[in-house]
Amino acid sequence: MSDHPMMQSWRLPEFGQPLVLHTEDPPVPVGREVLVRIAHCGICHSDLHVQDGYVMANNTDKVSFSAIGVRTPLTLGHEIMGHVAAAGPDAQGSVAVGDPCAVFPWMGCGVCETCKAGRLEDCPTPAALGLRRQGGFSNYVLVPDPRYIVPSGTLLPELVAVAGCSILTAYGALRKLPPLTSRDWIVIIGAGGVGLAAIALARHVTAARVLAVDTSDAALEAAKACGATETMNAADGSAGVLARTGAAAGVIDFVGGKQTVETALAVIARNGVIVVVGLKGGEVGLPLTRLALRSLTVRGSYTGTLKEFREVMVILEREGGLDLPLTPVAFSEVNQAMDTLRRGGYVGRAVIAVPGP
Ligand SMILES: [Zn+2]
Ligand SMILES: [Zn+2]
Repeated sequence: MSDHPMMQSWRLPEFGQPLVLHTEDPPVPVGREVLVRIAHCGICHSDLHVQDGYVMANNTDKVSFSAIGVRTPLTLGHEIMGHVAAAGPDAQGSVAVGDPCAVFPWMGCGVCETCKAGRLEDCPTPAALGLRRQGGFSNYVLVPDPRYIVPSGTLLPELVAVAGCSILTAYGALRKLPPLTSRDWIVIIGAGGVGLAAIALARHVTAARVLAVDTSDAALEAAKACGATETMNAADGSAGVLARTGAAAGVIDFVGGKQTVETALAVIARNGVIVVVGLKGGEVGLPLTRLALRSLTVRGSYTGTLKEFREVMVILEREGGLDLPLTPVAFSEVNQAMDTLRRGGYVGRAVIAVPGP
């Protein structure tokens, strides 16, 4: 592949370590594989969890990524926008070299019953980019099948990148709420990258009003700009949410910690649905009588399906994009950007700009 420059990837050498730059020849796609030349890759909170090597299972115990089969060295990054660089012989009719595209990162094995049912992200042998396969903190990514590639036309490339996780995860969570009217309230807890995407997407998915809750006033300002009906500092607690909404028909918790889920349980209305997305971790006591008497639903949401990813791309095309705060990060500064994200230093998403050919 002498016509391609070297592949440069920021790799996690071992859990708990900073990323190191790794240089190699770019892979040659075989079969149905597609090589994508990456232009942008978002940095997600999950990348920090993978770097740490664990998430909290409950209030005290960790689940380590190595225990669930995640292996280092690993190139992180799953919010990928790029251009088709080369296609294997069996993929050549399905993609056009040079086309700008979004990449669906939540791949499965593709052949099991779960995958065949369209739930690739739930496959028992997952193959997600940046987790099980080499990801997007690189100038190239090898995609195993053209069906994971969605052309992105003239959409803003940085926005296309974050479609793979921020926007898809937000959409997957919103779609788990019941049908709501303009008299209903949704409470969105956590106005980080994914939370802001949910706030911006909400009006395209539901008629309900949105109350955004966060501990950071800067994040709340961004939430307002993204279209939140109202915003509230988390310091006002569940009493503050109840004062503003009466009660919430739906709560989406993008933090997913003990305190935020307890708030959700305190503010949810009859027949309400609580969707937990964030991976802060911990555990809560579930008031069982209340659960039954109020017909409550508490459920989780991981990311979204390939079908939902295509729906997200249709919404983005139709709306000409989505107004999200995106901060550019130089490819050479990925470690610094990870640290900044860890300190809560970004409003919205940080997106790596990969130097062109
Ligand atoms: Zn599978
Ligand atoms: Zn993510």
